[in-house]
Amino acid sequence: DISHTFALAGNPNAGKTTLFNHLTGARQHVGNYPGITVERKEGYVLENGQRIKLVDLPGTYSLTAYSAEELVARDFLVNEKPGVVINIVDASNLERNLYLTAQFLELGVPLVIALNMVDVAKSRGITINTEKLSELLGVPVVPIIARTGIGTKELLATACQVAAGENSWQPLTISYGEDLDATIMQLVAEIERHSFLTERYPARFTAIKYLENDEQLIVLGRDESPTVAAALEAEVNKVSQHLQKTLSVFPEAIIADHRYGYLKSVLRNGVITQTFDSDRLY
Ligand code: GDP
Ligand code: MG
Repeated sequence: DISHTFALAGNPNAGKTTLFNHLTGARQHVGNYPGITVERKEGYVLENGQRIKLVDLPGTYSLTAYSAEELVARDFLVNEKPGVVINIVDASNLERNLYLTAQFLELGVPLVIALNMVDVAKSRGITINTEKLSELLGVPVVPIIARTGIGTKELLATACQVAAGENSWQPLTISYGEDLDATIMQLVAEIERHSFLTERYPARFTAIKYLENDEQLIVLGRDESPTVAAALEAEVNKVSQHLQKTLSVFPEAIIADHRYGYLKSVLRNGVITQTFDSDRLY
């Protein structure tokens, strides 16, 4: 009798497998996702008499359908709707790891951040204000050291609280600048008129993915309605050509820049303190 499914997600090398093994011990099962070679790892955790299924998702840097791993991770989230996504983040490489976090927030999934490798960060003189980070991102942040298990009990308890809660998990809205924001609004208006485009993802998420040239969503749109798809693609092409002509960039580059800009502004807000420069130690 399983009470919840929790997904473990994060960049490659953030410590997912280490945390997964620590939490599940020998209670795990390894297989493949149907038709592809991406590994599917599941295990079980007992917490307060509840049996929780834990799924170790493939490591990804993004949630756009650029690779089989990203597709598996994204499809799992929308199809199996885990009670919580535990997003494991490398504290010693915070800004880069939070790029994926920003996309979970834009997707609006229930999220807990496992701030891993705080030992590595500390040895480099990096201190992270977890309360501040949690406040600014609007999700719980629990510092852990997956290698030793420090903090993992608190992490599980927090994840259970989130899974049991009635939070609405409003998707995060990031501004992508004047040109793209206007296009996103037009795309959203069109997307919201068609249920086949809104049943999987929030309308704004789909609009952004269209601008990021997300093959899965583009093909899905064409399969469902060539006319609707053509209208969306025309809108995307218009802004894409404009950006290429005026700035010599594609929309996906502008989107990445603004996501990093959002994260930089969060981290500059007293989240990170560098107490010494580790380079001077060597
Ligand atoms: P995955 O790619 O996300 O599954 O990452 P792994 O679990 O394989 O971890 C990558 C490396 O980081 C391994 O060598 C782990 O032993 C190490 N590691 C994981 N968590 C920690 C931690 O909290 N502290 C330290 N110092 N190393 C860790
Ligand atoms: Mg792994």
